[in-house]
Amino acid sequence: QPVIGVLALQGDVREHVNALDASGVTARPIRRREELDQVDGLVIPGGESTTMSKLADVFGLRDPIRERIGDGMPVYGSCAGMIMLATEVLDGRPDQRGFDGIEMTVRRNAFGRQVDSFEAPVEITGVSGPPFHAVFIRAPWVERVADGVEVLGRVTEGPAAGRVVAVRQGNLLATAFHPELTGDLRVHRYFVDLVRNAA
Ligand code: GLN
Repeated sequence: QPVIGVLALQGDVREHVNALDASGVTARPIRRREELDQVDGLVIPGGESTTMSKLADVFGLRDPIRERIGDGMPVYGSCAGMIMLATEVLDGRPDQRGFDGIEMTVRRNAFGRQVDSFEAPVEITGVSGPPFHAVFIRAPWVERVADGVEVLGRVTEGPAAGRVVAVRQGNLLATAFHPELTGDLRVHRYFVDLVRNAA
């Protein structure tokens, strides 16, 4: 069965490891290059993208992760992980850099700094069943996607209705929200299928 790493520089690593374990794969926290070499897919957790960016350099993981992405390794980023996968970040720190995976522009803390967190239903293309109960915590949204990036989900109600919060480009998947916090495994299972099909 596939082995999926969770980038363990910072953020809610344990929650993703648990969600992946419950989805029927072997999950491992990843901090070193040799560990990265042994996984079939990678999850970038929620947390703080500016800190994650710095630590990716400190741990020498930026280029190895970019290379694996270039080779087609499936990667799923949630919240800060979505920011790390984007080719362009608005309202980021000037020195903040990601892995240049998905050709999209994301805006950090897009829902407003006052709006620390909220929950909203999101329908996700390719995920069957009722709308996903999405938890947003100082979340980004997606402002622009290039051709070839598929919009999978938008906020359906409230002042942010219509905002893009789930996307996929090839083997790369990103959500602005945190499915690892709700016990609903459908997004993790979607990613596990991506990893199985890529193997
Ligand atoms: N606001 C954080 C950032 O910009 C993301 C928040 C989160 O991952 N819950 O990185």
